[in-house]
Amino acid sequence: MGERVVVVGAGAVGAAAAIEAVRRGFDVALVEPGDPGGDQAASYGNAGWLSVQSVIPPSEPGVWKKIPGYLLDPLGPLAIRPFHLPGIAPWLVRYMASGWTRARIRAIAGMLRPLLAEAPALNKAAAEEAGVPDLVVADSGLAHVFRDRAAFAAETSWATRAAVGIRWDEVEGAAVADLLPEIDPAYRFAVLVREGGHCRDPGGFVAARVRHAERLGVRVIRARALDFAFSVDRLSGVVTDAGTIPADRAVVAAGIRSKPLADRLRLQVPIESERGYHVEIDGLSAGPGIPMMIQDRKVAITRMAKGLRVAGQVELAGVEAEADWRRAEVLKTHLLGVFPGLAPAIRDGAARMWLGHRPSTPDGRPVIGRSPHPDVLVAYGHGHIGLATGPRTGRIVADLLLGRAPEIPIEGFAPDRFRAYPTAGAGPT
Ligand SMILES: Cc1cc2nc3c(=O)[nH]c(=O)nc-3n(C[C@H](O)[C@H](O)[C@H](O)COP(=O)(O)OP(=O)(O)OC[C@H]3O[C@@H](n4cnc5c(N)ncnc54)[C@H](O)[C@@H]3O)c2cc1C
Repeated sequence: MGERVVVVGAGAVGAAAAIEAVRRGFDVALVEPGDPGGDQAASYGNAGWLSVQSVIPPSEPGVWKKIPGYLLDPLGPLAIRPFHLPGIAPWLVRYMASGWTRARIRAIAGMLRPLLAEAPALNKAAAEEAGVPDLVVADSGLAHVFRDRAAFAAETSWATRAAVGIRWDEVEGAAVADLLPEIDPAYRFAVLVREGGHCRDPGGFVAARVRHAERLGVRVIRARALDFAFSVDRLSGVVTDAGTIPADRAVVAAGIRSKPLADRLRLQVPIESERGYHVEIDGLSAGPGIPMMIQDRKVAITRMAKGLRVAGQVELAGVEAEADWRRAEVLKTHLLGVFPGLAPAIRDGAARMWLGHRPSTPDGRPVIGRSPHPDVLVAYGHGHIGLATGPRTGRIVADLLLGRAPEIPIEGFAPDRFRAYPTAGAGPT
């Protein structure tokens, strides 16, 4: 029997880590308090994009000038609840710093490019081996839609994408409606990234991945991890609300809820929830065949297996604050604005609303690697790209467990890169 590894959290990242670890001969337990792929996880309700082009960190030069507006307009694409501002200030400062100059953004894009590069193919392979091949479309392409070419040209992020090797086709005028039938004719320019793909049911995909993990021999344990047990200087177990699970190694992959566990390890990683919402119109199979991002409205529209989903918004309000469902209504309004012809179906259809937590570091890069305790690895903080990068992260984690060099450079994801900054609320250990 191989070394005992306990993976904490069965979202897109934890499921991938468990599968890759058991495949390499480890004796794996996967600890999850909810239903794997259930709506408690960010992996459930995201936009389903497997976007190789998501290499740009969320912050941009000059974003600080917009912050007063974000505070005043609770329904814009980014909102900060005023009560949360003092607590989030240290994270916000680092967030603004990471996008302060074009050079910084270019450097981050270079780090994220290999992490994202084969996301559609890796997720497709994962869906096939889990017995749900239809849930991932690796070659759908992904469209970014603008009102006109000038709006596209104003977004400097595209030059950065080109610099790291992202390619796209440009579609203009009437050809936009050929590509995306029924779209509001005010949108007359689009970028089609052919390398991109999408997942048609992210929650169902993760659930299938966990069932597949079980078939490979992973024990799925319904429990919440609380702490780590050590014997002298080695890990001896993961302490949960259902008892201590013996372990030689552990992997923290609990998304936004990783922080209390990281605190126990004295790992200083500033992480915040970039809260996002979705609205899914049940059973609506109309809408764009290609997933699309409406650039001026900052919403992603994806035709899912069970309906048409519009997802987006960034709300900084912490993990525990009540949902502000007006923000989901805003998404619905955008959907109506972009596809006016679907108005009756959108208005009359049953709409499901969801709030989720992007686990976000201020520099848009995950933390993947060793914690201060060498027996415990961390793999969280995937922010806006955790669905796409789940399979690659799982492979990296498994290589690190084996002591092998990972298949892509991971220096940019070093968990100790925030050491210079004191983390607000650092842990009790
Ligand atoms: C609106 C929105 C749109 C998005 N769109 C996209 C997109 O199009 N493409 C993309 O790639 N990404 C997207 N994302 C981001 C993506 O969803 C996340 O980055 C990703 O799901 C994170 O996966 P994870 O496994 O780290 O965390 P999660 O999916 O949150 O999973 C963590 C799991 O850990 C469990 N857990 C928590 N605490 C404990 C504990 N103490 N012990 C054990 N288990 C625990 C939780 O129950 C949960 O199941 C989007 C996110 C949002 C909110």
